[in-house]
Amino acid sequence: MPLSTGREHLAIPGPSVMPDRVLRAMHRAAPNIYEGDLMEMTEAIYRDLNTIARNRGDVVMYLGNGHAVWEASLCNTLSRGDHILALVTGRFGQGWVAIAKALGIEVSVLDFGNTSSADATRVEAALREDKQHRIKAVITVQTDTATSISNSIPQIRRGMQAANHPALLMVDCIASFACEPFDMDAWGVDVMLTASQKGLMTPPGLAIAYLGEKVWDHHAAAGLNTPYWNWKPRAKPTFYAERFCGTAPTHHLFGLREALDMLLEEGMEAVWNRHRIQASAVWAAVEAWGHSSSGALVLNVPEPTDRSLAVTTVNTEPGLAPRLRTWCADQTGLTLGIGLNPVPTGAPVDSLFRIGHMGHLNFHSLLGTLSCIDAGLTALGATQEAGAGIQAATHVIVEANAGS
Ligand SMILES: *Cc1c(COP(=O)(O)O)cnc(C)c1O
Repeated sequence: MPLSTGREHLAIPGPSVMPDRVLRAMHRAAPNIYEGDLMEMTEAIYRDLNTIARNRGDVVMYLGNGHAVWEASLCNTLSRGDHILALVTGRFGQGWVAIAKALGIEVSVLDFGNTSSADATRVEAALREDKQHRIKAVITVQTDTATSISNSIPQIRRGMQAANHPALLMVDCIASFACEPFDMDAWGVDVMLTASQKGLMTPPGLAIAYLGEKVWDHHAAAGLNTPYWNWKPRAKPTFYAERFCGTAPTHHLFGLREALDMLLEEGMEAVWNRHRIQASAVWAAVEAWGHSSSGALVLNVPEPTDRSLAVTTVNTEPGLAPRLRTWCADQTGLTLGIGLNPVPTGAPVDSLFRIGHMGHLNFHSLLGTLSCIDAGLTALGATQEAGAGIQAATHVIVEANAGS
């Protein structure tokens, strides 16, 4: 008999848990889309989006998901036959590359494997070789959601500077935004992409591109630009509907408005700090399970500084990951993330699962998640030491509170 009755919990890397405040904000009648409050609210959303990413440039929104802004970023800056350099640390880097190739863009890939972050010295070397400056853009993810690798964007930018190369730096922060520190202007990011359904705690359906000043020269020359993707009217509208190239995503905006209020009330430094402690608690739990299972469970990313604060990928012996996911869903009402294949078209991997710890999460829900996994591992005979992971996670949380 399944025992999962009760409030379900999603610990996957997007969509993340939607706060009741966000859901309530969306539960209302259709608004006037021609004049009044919606317009004012939307303009305030753009200002607050600027604040939380620490940039002064334009922000554009689409009714779309992450794939939409991947395509938009390329169409607004490049032409067929242009050359870009892609830094790949897992499936999500590959996914962006696949769209670029399908658009007729020439892509050089620097693949850093699936367990450690991009090496800025290799980026610098690749750019130094490009003496004619054929490479128009460097594309990278901050967090790769499949491998849970986090790349250092400031280091990558320093590598580009050391090579004295003018390419745009375009960064996918879809998994990491509002979870991991991000400072767009100070870091010299030219294009940053995100979406509503992860750290922004809003249902899937809104995609966001942040633009630095430098993009507009590239935009003017971009042969791949088309009316729907075009940044210009969205960033510099002459009337409201141009912001969205048609009807505004009214209810997503109400939800996002509330989510931004929540982030600003907590403060971005506090949001990042909370994610850091929560991620550390997850890592401690997985390491303890690893010890108590003679290595049947291992963190995918060995080096702590290479790890995402939003999602953790765990390696298991073959077959254990899907059995654990099923046990947790059926017996506890907890949904864990599947093991994604690094190849975008590849089938899920049965020796990986992922714990999403992004967005609307406190220690009560995090410890609940870890306790369910602990119980599952015990029930499936994968650990001989029930509670080992919880003890380790609790220790991290208690220490963090002692310091605050
Ligand atoms: C979720 C995610 C995407 C894709 O987003 P969709 O909304 O599923 O299209 C792209 N990149 C990263 C890093 C992600 O985490």
